[in-house]
Amino acid sequence: MCGVIGVIDPQSSETRGAAAAAAFDTFRGLLALQHRGQDAAGILSYDAQTRMFMCEKDLGLVTNVFDQQKIEKLTGSMAIGHTRYATMGGDGRRDIQPMVTGVPFGLGMAHNGNILNYTELADALSTEYNRQLLTANDLEVMINYFADFLMNGKTVADTDTFSFGNIKSATEKMFGVLTGGYAVVALLAGQGMVAFRDPKGIRPLVLGMRETDDGRKAWCIASESIAVNYLGYAYQRDIAAGEVVFIDMDGNLQSAMATQEKQKAPCMFEWVYFSGAESTIDHQPVYGARLRLGERLAARTRAAIDANEISPDVVMPVPDTSRPAAIAAAEALSLPYREGLIKNRYVARSFILSGQDKREWAVELKLSPVPGEIEGKNILLIDDSIVRGTTSKRIISLLRKYGAKEITLAITCPPHRHACFYGIDFPDPADLVAHGKTVEQIAETLGVNKVIYLDEHDLREAIGLTQLCMACINGKYPTATKDAEEFSQARKRLRAAG
Ligand code: SF4
Repeated sequence: MCGVIGVIDPQSSETRGAAAAAAFDTFRGLLALQHRGQDAAGILSYDAQTRMFMCEKDLGLVTNVFDQQKIEKLTGSMAIGHTRYATMGGDGRRDIQPMVTGVPFGLGMAHNGNILNYTELADALSTEYNRQLLTANDLEVMINYFADFLMNGKTVADTDTFSFGNIKSATEKMFGVLTGGYAVVALLAGQGMVAFRDPKGIRPLVLGMRETDDGRKAWCIASESIAVNYLGYAYQRDIAAGEVVFIDMDGNLQSAMATQEKQKAPCMFEWVYFSGAESTIDHQPVYGARLRLGERLAARTRAAIDANEISPDVVMPVPDTSRPAAIAAAEALSLPYREGLIKNRYVARSFILSGQDKREWAVELKLSPVPGEIEGKNILLIDDSIVRGTTSKRIISLLRKYGAKEITLAITCPPHRHACFYGIDFPDPADLVAHGKTVEQIAETLGVNKVIYLDEHDLREAIGLTQLCMACINGKYPTATKDAEEFSQARKRLRAAG
């Protein structure tokens, strides 16, 4: 999972070395998307006056990577940015996004997601097109194919005149060759910004607009509405699954569907865990969905209380994502809501840190107990998910150490038993604590009295959509999976190589 953003502001293109307005908005947008990836960050801008791409990117948080001096170098009226959470490629500098090519024309790109058939496409680029790839990132493969599809018989001399028809046709071809979940923002040198979302809409992408002082339109396209709103753009709509959008250097927007696909599959995990609580995805507010997940959890908890299986006296969230669900559950159960674990906000989210060592290190540092709220209590502990179980085990042993009597772990989604191949980093089901286990066995493994999960119906009702990707829950993948084994192996190899 990553965060992407693209900004195009026609007014700022008028002066040579314009004050990097697009890049500055992109930087601020990346701050709003920091929760989507903390491994690395980057911004690529294009300056029509100098006909140059400028790029700054490095490992670390957005505020570590950028300072005012670096942002001021990123001149031009359009820019794209990326916060990286490594789900393909290694953890090093080589695979940081955005990426750019100057041949056969200027094209920069960033994406959120994963290309499941990456190895097959990378091999084809090497054997059929004689291309030498420089990274292990699926984005480089995407840039190569998109550039090739855009050329489509054109000569290099024609490449400054792509029509929207060219762009739509190239996107259709991308949809034809790519298997996976992806949301893309791209810069076409001297021409404008392109964005598209995979045909199932697995990964999110939204569109915002603001009027410039001279009456034109500036646009922002981002993974989440939180970034668009934060920058002062008016949210227009989500980019539809399978839609391609092109905005030229004067701010004129064209869009079209580039697929016949009707079945959508946005990732349920965006509402459960990944997106900012302030965001709205596919018209469904994340915060509201999390409240409803808590209410549904309360109904299941009530049944267990009535059956004398548990007797909680406080409801406690695992901060931060599950806080709205815990508040709603406490209200519905008429139990006190207590914060027994305080999060150190300066430690990165443990699940999205890549590598088990880093994750365990983060859990150790990130939560401190409030002893008076734990000792002697029967705790209903609310969490959004149990993926590898690393965080849950540490938290439970912390609560036991501080004197918790009974611990019921209530989870706002069903058990994760299958791999994700679409941009969340659990490509191997063997890594999942619920894989091959009953709910009772999961409770035993984690050291709690009981685990309560929601089911798929709860999830659909709480999110408010009937069409969702829940493949990590039910094994029903929205795309072909013939390359899944190779994908998992490639991810393991690359992670080991760093
Ligand atoms: S498999 Fe799970 S985490 Fe991956 S895209 Fe589907 S719902 Fe989201």
